[in-house]
Amino acid sequence: MRIPPSHPRRESLLIREKLVEGFKRGIVVPEGLIAHGRGECFDYLLGEKTQLFALEAIKAAAAALLLADHPVISVNGNTAALVPGDIVRLSRVTGALIEVNLFYRTRGREEAIADWLKKHGAGEVLGVGDDASATIPELFSERRRVSPRGILVADTVLVPLEDGDRTEALRKMGKTVIAIDLNPLSRTSRAASITIVDNVVRAMPLLVREAEKLKRESKSILEKIINGYDNDRVLRRAVEFIRDRLTSLASSRLILDFPGNG
Ligand code: ATP
Ligand code: MG
Repeated sequence: MRIPPSHPRRESLLIREKLVEGFKRGIVVPEGLIAHGRGECFDYLLGEKTQLFALEAIKAAAAALLLADHPVISVNGNTAALVPGDIVRLSRVTGALIEVNLFYRTRGREEAIADWLKKHGAGEVLGVGDDASATIPELFSERRRVSPRGILVADTVLVPLEDGDRTEALRKMGKTVIAIDLNPLSRTSRAASITIVDNVVRAMPLLVREAEKLKRESKSILEKIINGYDNDRVLRRAVEFIRDRLTSLASSRLILDFPGNG
């Protein structure tokens, strides 16, 4: 599909195209397309830009990944379709392992995602087939199945686009959970240790850059960043941002200029 460069919703349409392509490749499931729609709604409210509270969370997330003994990047279909190259780059910079973790798990889909990541430069991809042999204590979805070398033993897990149940399960296991979620009110956002309220397509490249930058810093500086970080404050700032933006929009002229729209 050709989207004209001047189209006001071009970026958003290009992201949708990537997901549709991922769907055709067997990487994304229909439910993933719906989840994206929920995210888009919040992106609209956030002004479709990375805001300061997201930058603060990105910095803390980079520090946490660099300080971790055993960091893992948990990858689902939407994340793989949207930011495969950044997943690989982040894993290189931080030494984090990459693990496929799916709500709707099939062998074919696991392999399609692993192949797609390898096509973008990934080495080993955990969580495929028999490797997902351990389980985390969680009641429902297939996301309970994890790699005994990956998420099971990880101290820090990055979960771009996670489900609330599993975020809570990972926290109960004592892990540091870093979430990327456009909805500051989701259970994922509220249960995570560090929540990046931003679109994964904007947040991931920034996270890679921040990790590259902080990699040169000492351990004590990284610890200072984490100790000064308050996730509740960051979430409140995200909600306040939406509130203030809506207040300002509500007092402005909203209708577009067309003949008869006076
Ligand atoms: P939770 O289970 O955490 O309470 P939920 O049930 O409302 O959340 P899910 O359907 O489990 O939501 O997952 C979709 C989540 O992913 C939504 O919170 C949505 O904001 C977020 N999301 C979707 N697409 C993106 C994206 N491109 N970048 C960041 N977040 C996204
Ligand atoms: Mg959910």
